[in-house]
Amino acid sequence: MSVPEIKLVFDEPVQRKKTPKHLADYSPEERRELAKSLGLPAFRANQVATHYFTHLSNDPENWTDIPAEMRKTIAEQFTPKLIELVRSVECDGGMTRKDLWKLHDGVLVESVLMRYTDRVTVCISSQAGCGMNCPFCATGQAGLTRNLSAGEITEQIVAAARACANGELPGGEARLSNIVFMGMGEPLANYNAVTRTLRNITDPNPDGLGISARSVVVSTVGLVNGIEKLTEEGLSVTLAVSLHTPDDELRDTLVPINSRWKIKEVLAAADAYEKKTGRRYSIEYALIRDINDQSWRSDLLGRLLKNRNAHVNLIPLNPTPGSKWTASRREDEAEFVRILESYGVPVTVRDTRGREIDGACGQLAAAEKGNSPTG
Ligand code: SAH
Repeated sequence: MSVPEIKLVFDEPVQRKKTPKHLADYSPEERRELAKSLGLPAFRANQVATHYFTHLSNDPENWTDIPAEMRKTIAEQFTPKLIELVRSVECDGGMTRKDLWKLHDGVLVESVLMRYTDRVTVCISSQAGCGMNCPFCATGQAGLTRNLSAGEITEQIVAAARACANGELPGGEARLSNIVFMGMGEPLANYNAVTRTLRNITDPNPDGLGISARSVVVSTVGLVNGIEKLTEEGLSVTLAVSLHTPDDELRDTLVPINSRWKIKEVLAAADAYEKKTGRRYSIEYALIRDINDQSWRSDLLGRLLKNRNAHVNLIPLNPTPGSKWTASRREDEAEFVRILESYGVPVTVRDTRGREIDGACGQLAAAEKGNSPTG
């Protein structure tokens, strides 16, 4: 007699409904393979990719180069709806708009669209929640819910491009020009989906949106293994490193992953990235009153960066609810900037676009004054 197997239910990982596969999850080659596996000629994959990335169309009715009877199946297989708008909140007279998206399993993520005189930037989420646990960041407090698929990340970008093309922002029709991975999540902790997305952004028609890698910023807490891998991808996106302090002692608490990779190692990885890609990198630094805004820290940061091809982006802290921390005093901020500049380090203070809609809480902020990644 066999002993019945006892299942320890509490030992089972949470079974999530799988995110449907989308053409944005596949490489162009795999898309053509998928078409063939459905008994279609490979060029159908290119046609649907053109509708999606070039015409930003998610309505198969308009895909007139594809036989009408095939459109439904093709749309189901290639472009299932992955994100649904829950609501939008606007400020700055509509020039800043935060969209809240519901994913197929009910998980919520946000993106922020910002129009400037010379560009339109979307700030997107790469994960639902975040596992990095930085104490000043709202997303970090909630922990990681799950990684987003490349389809779910790309959908946020395509939705933003569509909103621009439809003239939804004041000022009429526009072209989405910049993409920053500064929403929820640590992009390099969701490496494959993020790099697939980077290719969807930069590949020319029909394979992607054809947006220049120079206009894309990937912001990281400093996962050295991820930076090293990205260096080998041949993607010249702008790297931003969330440093927040030049000394390991404080950084161990502000950016807990610092206990794994110290400042020296993070900067060495960023330098290697800069060397390979020729792209100046950004150092992000949230200025927190009396925590990391002392002049000696600015001095130390200046010495650390003076011979590096890096630019400092100071972000006035946007306090999270219940936080004991707040933004630096104006005069301390000005002194911090002055000291850095005395070392010849380029520095900008990010504007606080979208603050009223919690869009400038850092994780959802990308409004960098005078710091357009395109120059
Ligand atoms: N995980 C990535 C990207 C997400 S956030 C990273 O850490 O870089 C984008 C930037 O906003 C990061 O520099 C992050 O440290 C910063 N940030 C997070 N919360 C903030 C807050 N409350 N105020 C100001 N900046 C914040």
